[in-house]
Amino acid sequence: MRENFENKYFDKLVVNPNKHEHSEKNLHESIIENVENIGGKHITDFEVAKTAKEIEIINFVLDEADKILSSYGREKHISIPLENIHILVDGGSEKYTTGNLKTGGHSTMQRSVIIDRVKSDLEFSIILFHELIHLKSYSAIQVLDNGKIEAYRSGISVRSRDGERKYLKNIEEGIVGLLTEKFYNTLIEKGAFYINREDIANNKIEISRKEEIATLNKIVDDIYGKHREQFKDRDQVLNLFINAQVNGELIKLLKLIKSTYKIDSLKAKNN
Ligand SMILES: [Zn+2]
Repeated sequence: MRENFENKYFDKLVVNPNKHEHSEKNLHESIIENVENIGGKHITDFEVAKTAKEIEIINFVLDEADKILSSYGREKHISIPLENIHILVDGGSEKYTTGNLKTGGHSTMQRSVIIDRVKSDLEFSIILFHELIHLKSYSAIQVLDNGKIEAYRSGISVRSRDGERKYLKNIEEGIVGLLTEKFYNTLIEKGAFYINREDIANNKIEISRKEEIATLNKIVDDIYGKHREQFKDRDQVLNLFINAQVNGELIKLLKLIKSTYKIDSLKAKNN
């Protein structure tokens, strides 16, 4: 009988038992070690110590991320250790990643976040929320035939089983962007202990991923337009996308996308 190992950092581990002699238990142990030792390692030259207020903001945002995911049916709350959230000096993300990232980013395998200490607490919390939604959504990892362990699912996005191609990455950004907009609107409406009047009066924080949000909205409209008989309203279609991101359920949605655009496969360019 196949044993099941609970992993607090991922929903699922996909492994071909005929190809790998390692036991699943060993794989889980090395995955957890990667998260806790590598993901939590201090970033020399750029990382700054967290203040008490920053820790309070981080805990608040972690909690809000779990709450919004629960409201879409998420039962598992992925744990992200405090040491894995690395606050870098303002401008640090760009320098540390030699221009790949702007103000923040995340590592799927290490369950870690880097985030610039931008001046506004509100903006800091918005960037953090975005990265945490990526990490706290449904996630699966896979062992490739060559033994390498890497991401298989990050929310709605999928990597092929040979590790070569990625699908639906932009859609994932669109969904995360939409959920981040929701979080921002709630903060402006209800406030939070770290938001001051100035923040609300300025109300000019740019939510990232506008383009991907627009693409997602267009696809939702297309599907709803072509399959009106199946849905009560447009939100039901959007919820299928959010559900795929949050809980991993893709089959019904993929059928709808394929029939809407009359395509057989989602094979895309590897970018
Ligand atoms: Zn993102």
